[in-house]
Amino acid sequence: MCRSGRGSNEPEVTGRAGSARMGARPSHLLLAALLATGCAAQPSSATAPAAANAEETATAVDLIIAGDHVVTMDGDRPVLADGAVAIDDGRIVAVGPRAEIAQRYHAAETLDGRNRVVMPGLINGHAHSAMTLMRGLADDLELMEWLQKYIFPTEVRFVDAEFTRIGTELACWEMIRGGTTTFVDMYYYPDAVAQAVERCGLRALVAPTVIDQKSPDAADGADSLRVAAEFAARWKGRNNRIIPVIGPHSVYTLKPPQLQAARAKARELGVPVSIHLAESRFEIDYAKQHHSTTPIDLLENLGFFDGPTIGAHVIYPTDAEIPVLARRKVGAIHCPTSNMKISSGVAPIAKMLKAGVPVGLGTDGAATNNDLDLWEEMRLAAFLQKVSTMDPTVIPAKTALRMATAGGAEAIGLGDQIGSLTPGRRADVIQVSLDDLHFTPLYDLISHLVYVADEQDVISVVVDGKVLMRDRKVLTVDVERVRSEAAAIAAKIRASVGQPAGAMP
Ligand SMILES: [Zn+2]
Repeated sequence: MCRSGRGSNEPEVTGRAGSARMGARPSHLLLAALLATGCAAQPSSATAPAAANAEETATAVDLIIAGDHVVTMDGDRPVLADGAVAIDDGRIVAVGPRAEIAQRYHAAETLDGRNRVVMPGLINGHAHSAMTLMRGLADDLELMEWLQKYIFPTEVRFVDAEFTRIGTELACWEMIRGGTTTFVDMYYYPDAVAQAVERCGLRALVAPTVIDQKSPDAADGADSLRVAAEFAARWKGRNNRIIPVIGPHSVYTLKPPQLQAARAKARELGVPVSIHLAESRFEIDYAKQHHSTTPIDLLENLGFFDGPTIGAHVIYPTDAEIPVLARRKVGAIHCPTSNMKISSGVAPIAKMLKAGVPVGLGTDGAATNNDLDLWEEMRLAAFLQKVSTMDPTVIPAKTALRMATAGGAEAIGLGDQIGSLTPGRRADVIQVSLDDLHFTPLYDLISHLVYVADEQDVISVVVDGKVLMRDRKVLTVDVERVRSEAAAIAAKIRASVGQPAGAMP
């Protein structure tokens, strides 16, 4: 009998598929995985053995996720009809035709695939999750007014570990419900964020905010870097779903030596940095006034890009700076909703993609969005480029989908781990239901996923091989508890800003 080593750290896949675990991309999906297993002597489905016999010889896996369509986002075989993904011990072990997967693998649990699309989970490259508790608090304002009059004062007064825990849990529920499986967070009280992520089952890069002002969890720049470094040291290697990051806020909230110190600490700890980068006219003017240059040029001259960097927004790179971002492999996280809502500008996404900059998508915080819906970001990323360039051919649907999946994974430094349905990668997989009538008729699946689908169409979510949502029910967040905890905090904030009760339920 050929059974996988359940409970071991690696799935029983060897040869080419096994090599994918080490970072090489297999040129075939299913066949490489099947032929390379020790169980490859099975005949094709045309000569399938009797069911009992098949079960006896099938490899045991944790989970099979089936779908009428499997959107792999893998360059070699992008969409399979009537397919399935076999998952064991947190990793994808095979992707291929449903009948063959059913014959080769015997799963403890199966997610049925009728009228379902199976695809990689979405990747939110920039969020401030706990700001869900401030959504709708102050809308329709310009960035600096919004930050300095409303957000920073509210944060200093109300944000503590408990606030962060509740806001992050609320965000985790929303992201799971909408099919986001990985997010990059930048906020305060990073242990509270990481613990919430640990419990809810998502994958996250957690960046404590390093900022040179009094913040909810630090007195100044040096203190916030200390908080960040201690967090990163505590969480590095502790949970494979949680990657600590150092989060220097921006060039206008940190001085050059502080920016260099943040990078040096990240390098010492072997973690990436995440920074707001060339986000607004204010930031451009600030850099010109204080440093006689641009934010990107300043950081390049400081050696800040010497190491993995996730840049949020990246709205104002000059034409000369775009190749610098590409050469330095700085991930540019496009946040179209936030950029539109606070009139920050239009990031030159089409130009950056053409130049080879890794571009992903982000929601930013829920106070400038006001939700965490990556489907909306995909759609708006495409529309915003089309209207700003007056060219409907830029950012076609497949490019938008790539930015939310495989491209987003590259932009956050996990391009060999997640973002596509490829044997050897971590099993972050979602199912989208095509039951809703708004998908009818179905001419072009990718078009529908980008231009029609929304959060409510996601029906199952799997992260690292664990089912976090089944039949639209989020299994890992207690909705009623989070609802009442969030309402209690909102009541305090409402009282402090003088809003009448009922204006902010
Ligand atoms: Zn941000």
